[in-house]
Amino acid sequence: MAAPHQHRSTAVLRAGFDPQLSVGSARPAVFKTSTYVFSSPEAAERAFAIAHGAPPEPGEDVNLIYARLSHPNAEIVEQQLVQIGEGAAAAAVFNTGMAAISTLLLTCCASGDTVIYTLPLYGGSEGFIADTLARFDIRSVGIPAGDQAALEAALQSSPRARLVFIETPANPTLVMTDIAGAVRAAAAHPNRPLVVIDDTLLGPVYQHPLALGAHLAVYSATKYMGGHSDLLAGVVMGRDPDLVTRIREQRTLLGTILQPDEAWLLGERIPTMQLRMRQQSKNAAKIVEHLRGHRAIARIHYPSAFTDPEQIRIRDAQTQYPGGLFSLDLVGGKPAAFTFLRSLRVVYHAVSLGSVETLVTHPASTTHSGLPPEALARAGVTPGLVRISVGV
Ligand SMILES: *Cc1c(COP(=O)(O)O)cnc(C)c1O
Repeated sequence: MAAPHQHRSTAVLRAGFDPQLSVGSARPAVFKTSTYVFSSPEAAERAFAIAHGAPPEPGEDVNLIYARLSHPNAEIVEQQLVQIGEGAAAAAVFNTGMAAISTLLLTCCASGDTVIYTLPLYGGSEGFIADTLARFDIRSVGIPAGDQAALEAALQSSPRARLVFIETPANPTLVMTDIAGAVRAAAAHPNRPLVVIDDTLLGPVYQHPLALGAHLAVYSATKYMGGHSDLLAGVVMGRDPDLVTRIREQRTLLGTILQPDEAWLLGERIPTMQLRMRQQSKNAAKIVEHLRGHRAIARIHYPSAFTDPEQIRIRDAQTQYPGGLFSLDLVGGKPAAFTFLRSLRVVYHAVSLGSVETLVTHPASTTHSGLPPEALARAGVTPGLVRISVGV
């Protein structure tokens, strides 16, 4: 437990970790085991009682059972995340961002419920909500990102609204949705639907959904948290520890916990996340400034280049820095975009984002190629659009 006066970036270095439990090593060991030896039959019985919902005593030393339920490397990184996430009371780690998103949706939603979600949405999330959940009679309504009136109308016409799923900023045009506004609208609904924010693009460093009243924040830790294009991971953080416990119980049933090696690696990366994200945001802001007004660029999508007054208001209310991701709409459409990709030196043409190296994609022909033309147009994915995730 961190002393209250410690800064988050200091507390995270030691959170959840006792060197005495790792033969004195200054950084955690990797506990590569599937099963744990019980200290006594009574301790085993007690560990199972707690796993089945009995509350542990404060400070109680509970035996570990089996790594699909939990393991030391997951617990260490979960406690680090609680230090880093403003407003977070608990965290859970998963083996991918999609594992985090699907596990939380399966925990919170039941047959007959409605999920309201913003568009554009990460393709995997949209597929899971609109196709997989639909097979369990969970309905869904997509609304345009950044449109408070559409959100309120969707809530009003959904008596069984259970969950509002918002990705902000949205990919690849960085359109923002008002988190506090969504929390207000959901709180006015008789069903009190949960507000869940996919905070992958700016959080947890430059955007704090839980501090703005959202119930859960979810992350693809594959991106900025991991930050080196060398691991897949997902994170859920919440204000209510009981809700996070329920999500962990679902994680046990689905088998979606992060493996010890990856949990260790993620834990080693979290203390430098703020340093990396600060540099990435500075670099991206500088490049955008340099490119402004360039005759080969029709439009730049980046928070500091917003022109819509409502988008500027949301940006100023809920984000601290513009971040490391921007998109360029090139004059000349797809041929211009392909020429651009072919001309790249140093940086890679690859999907994903948030890494120390710079990655560039052409969404219309790759990540967003499954969308019908109207959806592409609505998402702002033009033929000339290239997305750039700036490295350190
Ligand atoms: C990458 C991404 C995901 C999915 O995460 P994985 O780790 O690839 O499963 C979800 N949401 C957003 C915004 C992402 O960028």
